[in-house]
Amino acid sequence: MLRDANELSDGATLEAEVCVVGGGIAGITIARALGAAGVRVVVLEAGGVARSDESQALYRGHMSGISTWALEDLRVRRLGGTSDHWAGWCMPLQEEDFLPRAHIPHSGWPISLRDVAPYYRPAEAVVELGEGHFDAVKAKHDESRPSFASRGALETRMFRFSPPTRFGERYRAELERSERVDVITHAAVTHLALERGSRALARVEGKGPSGAFVVEANRYVLAAGGIENPRLLLASRDVSPDGVANGSGAVGRYFMDHPHLYDAGRIALPRDLDVGFYRRGTSRGMDGERIGVFALTSRGREELSCPDLTVEVGAEADPEEALQGLSASDAARLLGAKARHFRLDVRAEQSPDPRSRITLQQERDALGLPKVDLHWFVRDEDRAAYARAVGRLGALLTVQREARVLQQLTPDTARTWPLLPGGHHMGTTRMGSSSATSVVNADCRAHDVDNLYLAGSSVFPTGGSANPTLTIVALALRLADHLATPPPEVGSRTAEEPVGPAVPPGEPEARP
Ligand SMILES: Cc1cc2nc3c(=O)[nH]c(=O)nc-3n(C[C@H](O)[C@H](O)[C@H](O)COP(=O)(O)OP(=O)(O)OC[C@H]3O[C@@H](n4cnc5c(N)ncnc54)[C@H](O)[C@@H]3O)c2cc1C
Repeated sequence: MLRDANELSDGATLEAEVCVVGGGIAGITIARALGAAGVRVVVLEAGGVARSDESQALYRGHMSGISTWALEDLRVRRLGGTSDHWAGWCMPLQEEDFLPRAHIPHSGWPISLRDVAPYYRPAEAVVELGEGHFDAVKAKHDESRPSFASRGALETRMFRFSPPTRFGERYRAELERSERVDVITHAAVTHLALERGSRALARVEGKGPSGAFVVEANRYVLAAGGIENPRLLLASRDVSPDGVANGSGAVGRYFMDHPHLYDAGRIALPRDLDVGFYRRGTSRGMDGERIGVFALTSRGREELSCPDLTVEVGAEADPEEALQGLSASDAARLLGAKARHFRLDVRAEQSPDPRSRITLQQERDALGLPKVDLHWFVRDEDRAAYARAVGRLGALLTVQREARVLQQLTPDTARTWPLLPGGHHMGTTRMGSSSATSVVNADCRAHDVDNLYLAGSSVFPTGGSANPTLTIVALALRLADHLATPPPEVGSRTAEEPVGPAVPPGEPEARP
């Protein structure tokens, strides 16, 4: 069922087995899966079925760190959420993304790729990827486009593209028909009510066009996005000034995006070399468009103490223009006008850092919720490592196929190189095995609140270099599986079994 909160009377109380806050990509995925499993779900969606300026205005906030797009332009507050904006780039995380890495502080998930892998195929179906695969070597071979070989520390990975699926449109009719799922639009949650002495949420409180409402459920899922999830937790201060589920002090901290560094180098290639596999819009599999990107193997990254990154062969530059301003020797290295010249664009992982964070401001929005400040911060060590990685990739490409790379992102330029956001908001309610340093456990359940779960990339402890949405959907399906089993007895939690790898050595046990 799909209805608007203007149908609710002021002070209405609704009941459900599971209450999902947010009807975006994660929220709709969980609701559909739970509905199919016979669970009664209420989805509270702050926006309407269509986008409106009034709803977007509630996303306004402040940015004190690296400037990104305005907060209300980064996200969409309507049914389907930011799927209205997303460009459909999809790639699963890699095995080592889940592991603690000595050179990345605060790295290591409490789960492994094995735990998520069974959900990637179903996730691909949710974002309408078709029947393809992510094996770049096989894809290049099938297209008879070997060009660069994965050799030494050089590897090729591959993105595939969702149409992109707009969740509000694509799944609206199914939600309307559902007898189990009750989606309520214009129903903004403003408070998570925890009672003193209890380890369980009693209800969520919200505001709609006709007044206040509450929802009481056995279990609650926050799926409001990587900025609103911590905002709601931090703003609900009945019991603790630190908010809900924040015993670790980690809520809002460790904010990560995928820094994009455009034109980090120029590659010159012989005119007869077919690099179509690496160019947007020129490679297709049975199931649609795909693109190859250059990357370093995990060994290569370890040697350089570098977070993960991928390099895309970007826009083609006019040879004259590409050579302008270069010394004769650099121009000669770039094969002169005989070559085709392309930009190299980097999409990087950043290391989690508690200084990169969401905090609440004094100023409130029209619904009375404190506005947020986003302080996006990327460590200088990461910037320097990106330069090292581009240098290594350049060297690896240069020994193959007569390619020549002129590196523009260097240790000197890296400090001030413009970092652009991907609109991927990760890390602010991070997953971990220790309640001292993370917000949710391996089941995405809050360490401190037995019936509260978090969905979306706010639970990612590290981001890898893959765009996040395919993994968001896979984790949402995994969470739905977990929620479809009977709830644990609320308030009587037994000691948690440690799951997966322990907290990485050197991880502070105290609050950040
Ligand atoms: C320009 C752009 C391009 C992108 N391209 C890609 C890409 O190519 N590949 C990729 O993987 N990712 C991409 N992304 C990221 C992708 O959009 C996000 O990863 C994804 O939308 C996150 O899903 P989510 O469900 O967690 O959040 P959202 O989709 O933002 O959904 C959150 C929902 O919660 C609702 N909500 C918020 N607050 C409340 C509240 N208080 N009460 C009730 N409801 C609330 C919102 O209205 C919204 O519907 C892109 C993002 C941007 C901005």
